Amino acid sequence: MTILKKKTGYALGLFLFALGVLLLFVVLWIWWSHEIFASQDILSDMTNSFWEEYPEISFGIGLRIVHYAISGFVFLIVGIAILLVRREKVRVTEEVAVELGCPYCKNKWQEYMSKAQLELMGYPQVRTLSRRKCSKCAKFIRPKITSVGE
Ligand SMILES: [Zn+2]
Repeated sequence: MTILKKKTGYALGLFLFALGVLLLFVVLWIWWSHEIFASQDILSDMTNSFWEEYPEISFGIGLRIVHYAISGFVFLIVGIAILLVRREKVRVTEEVAVELGCPYCKNKWQEYMSKAQLELMGYPQVRTLSRRKCSKCAKFIRPKITSVGE
């Protein structure tokens, strides 16, 4: 039940995000096709164009760029908010503290990883992470997992 809810939230967030991007792309496309980017006074042309009725996007019901821009922004922000909230929940429920060690200087530190991420990299068979710089000896190393907390 909870998994289903999470997935629905994620899909909705992605959908709104994509819709927002699409609407903003329509705005950019209109500006581009009406050569507003090539104008001498881009800012005022953009402002004026917000209220102009372009036949290709009005759909006979008077939709204007301003509607596309505002709803695009709203969808984008709501979509991102949903995705962030969802990520926060996953973090609380599925993350574990992982103790990592540098194979050179034996420096040890802790990071939080999701169980799914650990499984994906092949833990417990695979115990090394991708290359990165060690904060202590400054060498490029593949940190080793020394222990995984519950
Ligand atoms: Zn090191």
